[in-house]
Amino acid sequence: MPFVDDSYISPKLKIKKINKTEKGVFAIKHIEKGEILAITGGVVLPYHRVVKLHKDIKKYCYYLENNFYICPFNRRKKSPDLYFNHSCDPNTGGEENALTTVAIKNIKIGSEVTYDYRKDYWKNDNKNRPPRSFHCRCKSKKCAEIIHY
Ligand SMILES: [Zn+2]
Repeated sequence: MPFVDDSYISPKLKIKKINKTEKGVFAIKHIEKGEILAITGGVVLPYHRVVKLHKDIKKYCYYLENNFYICPFNRRKKSPDLYFNHSCDPNTGGEENALTTVAIKNIKIGSEVTYDYRKDYWKNDNKNRPPRSFHCRCKSKKCAEIIHY
């Protein structure tokens, strides 16, 4: 599944259900540090268009720069990297506001692929939306417990 709905996701990854309501992304082959795992596709829109989108699309838009956001084309076309769950000690990362996510550690088969949401989700965007938070369950030694993003 290298290209899924206009985005790229590594064929070494698979989206799986974690429980009744949550999904996550897992390695189905060994991944080396530095490998490109996902590139987010979508439509780039200015903020005044984003606020008019359906809430199920709007929540998957994230900030790029200068009041422009990248959003899914529609509710069914979400980039697979949006299924990466948060970890305070993640195994993937990327440049600030970048569309490309890379492995920052070697990742074993069967491991969940995670991203630190605090890093760039909606960065510089607090004037446009209230900050969000959730209770983290990543269980890493570095866990911040309450994640604001
Ligand atoms: Zn955590």
